Amino acid sequence: MTERVVIIGSGPAGWSAAIYAARANLTPLLFEGAMTQENYQNGTLPLGQLNLTTEVENFAGFPAGNLSQFLDTAIAPDRRKTMAPHGGHGVSGPELMELMKQQALNFGTRVETDDIVNVDLSKRPFVLTTLSGTTVEAHSIIVATGARANYLGLESEDKYKNQGVSACAVCDGALPRFRNKPLVVVGGGDSAMEEASYLTKFASTVYIIHRRDEFRASKIMATRVLENPKINVKWFSKVEEVLGDEKAGVTGVRISNVKSGETEVLEAGGMFCAIGHTPNTAFLKGQVQTDDKGYVVYTEPFRTNTSVEGVFAAGDVADSYYRQAITSAGTGCMAALDAERWLAAQGHH
Ligand code: FAD
Ligand code: NAP
Repeated sequence: MTERVVIIGSGPAGWSAAIYAARANLTPLLFEGAMTQENYQNGTLPLGQLNLTTEVENFAGFPAGNLSQFLDTAIAPDRRKTMAPHGGHGVSGPELMELMKQQALNFGTRVETDDIVNVDLSKRPFVLTTLSGTTVEAHSIIVATGARANYLGLESEDKYKNQGVSACAVCDGALPRFRNKPLVVVGGGDSAMEEASYLTKFASTVYIIHRRDEFRASKIMATRVLENPKINVKWFSKVEEVLGDEKAGVTGVRISNVKSGETEVLEAGGMFCAIGHTPNTAFLKGQVQTDDKGYVVYTEPFRTNTSVEGVFAAGDVADSYYRQAITSAGTGCMAALDAERWLAAQGHH
């Protein structure tokens, strides 16, 4: 059987595309990603980037309030019982993602917990290969594979991954190794602000190491950080080396001032990288046009078309500029509508 539309990715873009495609009776098949150690390390587990965060305050339709009762009734009990208790302040990232997934399931989306590792776009129908070795044929594809966290690329950083080096404070911050110790966050964007604020729950002090003297983050997030007495910002600074030993893991970082070259050692129990993301497009192996950073390029304004007819893209994988949950959901909707119209024009109803 040839699928009419296969959606790859399980963030806001993938689920929104699935909701629209399912409601158009396309019975979409969605690959949500695989539960592998590699995906855990890269932050590319099913449910996407929002599953790695706490409160989401800017997704329209989810004001502050207690959602517990609604979550109890909206989400399948087997998944509901595994979710963290609700904080009562709005919607959390994992809650929002579970709600999107449930909505897509309700309309008949079929979900496979697997990665797509290869696609052959030279043939029609397209052929997709999964990590577990199965192949699927599809008339159209929506690429919604999002993006993953970047690391600094230091040898010492690699050495201490899972031993004090992390790219996800919400996933790892509560671990005993990080409690009551100074911690380091690298970066100056919204993620760095969020990670630093979150880590103040556990750390004695949080250092933010930023290479400039101004944050890229939104004003509201930056102000929260600058007003937090537990956060100490090291401006014009970069991490030269992660320090540690085999037994304790990370014990500190050596930083340098990018202007004067002066170095300083900060004692720290962990380092959290929040220096941006790389789009998950390696599996496309150059068959779809991407820009120099690997983001899928849209070939028509206000459309989700890519360089390959029948392949559409949505969300952060094609967006190095907005990178928000709500814009990803918006382009997910657009991709499903574009795919539906293209399939109809090809006679694949
Ligand atoms: P993603 O959320 O990146 O999801 C893509 C998913 O697809 C992957 O995680 C993986 O499971 C799957 N996948 C990847 N490759 C494959 C493959 N080959 N095969 C199968 N599946 C695959 N935005 C906001 O608007 N508000 C916020 O408060 C906010 N907070 C954030 C906090 C953090 C810590 C981070 C990192 C980001 C935050 N963002 C926030 C940004 C937001 O999370 C992203 O813009 C959004 O999740 C992008 O959605 P997406 O659907 O494009 O992809
Ligand atoms: P980002 O906005 O791209 O910021 C990355 C930061 O890391 C920048 O400050 C950058 O410095 C720094 N950086 C990049 N490479 C570096 C390197 N090699 N060494 C040292 N520093 C480096 O990424 P992000 O913070 O992950 O945010 C991504 C998107 O998600 C944004 O659109 C953001 O708004 C969104 N987001 C939203 C929320 C929220 O609204 N609550 C929370 C998190 C993320 P420079 O500034 O010098 O370039």
